[in-house]
Amino acid sequence: MSAEITNHECDVLVVGAGGAGLRAAIEASRSGARTAIVTKSLLGKAHTVMAEGGAAAAMGHVNSDDNWMVHMRDTLRGGKFLNNWRMARIHAQEAPDRIHELEEWGAVFDRTKAGQMSQRDFGGHTFTRLVHVGDRTGLELIRALQDKGIHSGIDVLPELTITSLVRDGDRVVGAVGYLRGDGSFHAIRAGAVVIASGGLGKIYKTTSNSWECTGDGLALAARAGAKLLDSEFVQFHPTGMCWPPSVQGILVTEGVRGEGGILKNSEGKRFMFDYIPDLFREDTADTEQEARDWLAGKEGARRPPELLTRDVVAKAIRSEVHAGRGSPHGGAWLDVASMRTTADIERRLPAMVHQLRELGGVDITRDPFEVGPTCHYTMGGLLVDPETTATTVAGLYACGEAAAGLHGANRLGGNSLTDLLVFGRRSGAEAAEAAGSVTGTLDAGLVEAAVRDASAPLNRADGENPYALTHELQALMEENCGIVRDAEGMQAAKAGLVRMRERAQDCSAPGGPVYNPGWHQALALENQILVADAIVTSALNRRESRGAHTRTDFQDTEAKGETFHNVCRWDGQAILLEEVPHQPVPAEVAEEISLGRTGGQH
Ligand code: FAD
Repeated sequence: MSAEITNHECDVLVVGAGGAGLRAAIEASRSGARTAIVTKSLLGKAHTVMAEGGAAAAMGHVNSDDNWMVHMRDTLRGGKFLNNWRMARIHAQEAPDRIHELEEWGAVFDRTKAGQMSQRDFGGHTFTRLVHVGDRTGLELIRALQDKGIHSGIDVLPELTITSLVRDGDRVVGAVGYLRGDGSFHAIRAGAVVIASGGLGKIYKTTSNSWECTGDGLALAARAGAKLLDSEFVQFHPTGMCWPPSVQGILVTEGVRGEGGILKNSEGKRFMFDYIPDLFREDTADTEQEARDWLAGKEGARRPPELLTRDVVAKAIRSEVHAGRGSPHGGAWLDVASMRTTADIERRLPAMVHQLRELGGVDITRDPFEVGPTCHYTMGGLLVDPETTATTVAGLYACGEAAAGLHGANRLGGNSLTDLLVFGRRSGAEAAEAAGSVTGTLDAGLVEAAVRDASAPLNRADGENPYALTHELQALMEENCGIVRDAEGMQAAKAGLVRMRERAQDCSAPGGPVYNPGWHQALALENQILVADAIVTSALNRRESRGAHTRTDFQDTEAKGETFHNVCRWDGQAILLEEVPHQPVPAEVAEEISLGRTGGQH
């Protein structure tokens, strides 16, 4: 088949129009680069709009004791010290400026009575730290970035799905994709490409993620030679809706617990007091009275155990369910109604109240409701330089959820929204600089080969059904490499993925390229299988439990001694893994932020 291909050219091509992509594109454009941004959905519809609770930045508006050092320390502790400490420092230092800047660009954050930015509590943050817009923070963030972006002269190519990156020698020089509506192909030549394509939650059955999160950018970059870091760390948010089915998997923001919500088992017991890890014991209330004192704002009261980090809370719910004390549909009861007045809940969590009332008939201002773990975020992703966000391939950058390093073994809530602002800006600036000095060629033969590969499912009259195979993949991953794992299950997953890769080569999506969702799914599936393989391969290799990675056959939380990173690459046939030593926080930095220990040694 020889399809028509429309050609485009720019200095910086940004793949993804979520918070990270928009911030990168704005910066690239401000740096003087001709910038284009592509998104496989519509502008303003990226997954980022779903972000609810807030963006973590040590503004010090609500608690003046907060500062970047405490924020960095919290991020490292939350990440079980597997974070790239340089990224954790850059993030904590630059986050407040990125928030102020967003405000200058028109974002309207909630205010305190004194007129400062309101901040709220989230798990693992020592201080009240998350700036927010009710519980619709992501929407406001995207609105402000979009307004700024469209007035910066950026070319926007909506509903264009990138299917491959194109290299000239060792350098990425552009990309090929198709328009979802009419199936037409487009080749974009670029001096530098930024991957800001978000996460991969859709490889699991139960997930809070949107349809876009199929790990495309990770797979495209891996095929172009980029490396993936610590893929095993997939975050399961403790509070996805379990029931009713109309809202299953939908996220209940941590803000509900930040506003005082408590977790109870089927016996009515507030069970989180039984699951406080030693690492957090000093900072966590261990009696009901103290937890209530905290909610009442009493000086010196420690934070309630419901605000422990996500990995801890998710595993606690799972343990209660396993012990036969779960709620009727396999979760726990979350109760904010008995902790706050209806008016307070409606004012502080309006989207949550509205969404669950309308979609599920659940009134959180009146009743407890059932929640349980849902796949939420990927800490793993593309290996990047902490300062420049450059991947291991020339001309290719990555930021936002697609990039790895900042969050280590577990992300703190709120840190993603500031991650994508801080590192999105850096990606855009660096890509613009790199693009200025390059004139690569987009080889016509490579472009045609990319178009041929992407068209293959359209040309198969019969074959595997891409939807059925995707459901199999989701079940395989949830069952064998989900919130808890063991070697036996993961080996089964690995073998299953090898078979699925072969079957995916035989997916058919007849009916032509116009409005053909089966075709889109067939292409996404190949990406999903590649990233799932990286997750399973890395998870098998990590013989310890750490953060979001819990192995029932290696229960020791955080093996003693020096730790390492799993670095994967795709060699065209399989995922190959290499262990790379972890760089602990240098002693002088540990002292500066009062860490009291060196990273990776606890
Ligand atoms: P995304 O917003 O996912 O954007 C990815 C973009 O890439 C999209 O435009 C997509 O269309 C595009 N794309 C993907 N593949 C392709 C392709 N092949 N071709 C072209 N385009 C492509 N974090 C917080 O810090 N605070 C919160 O309160 C919070 N709440 C959350 C609530 C929910 C329900 C969820 C699901 C997540 C929440 N998060 C929160 C996490 C946070 O929202 C995400 O991590 C973050 O928005 C990711 O942003 P991103 O820009 O990296 O990617």
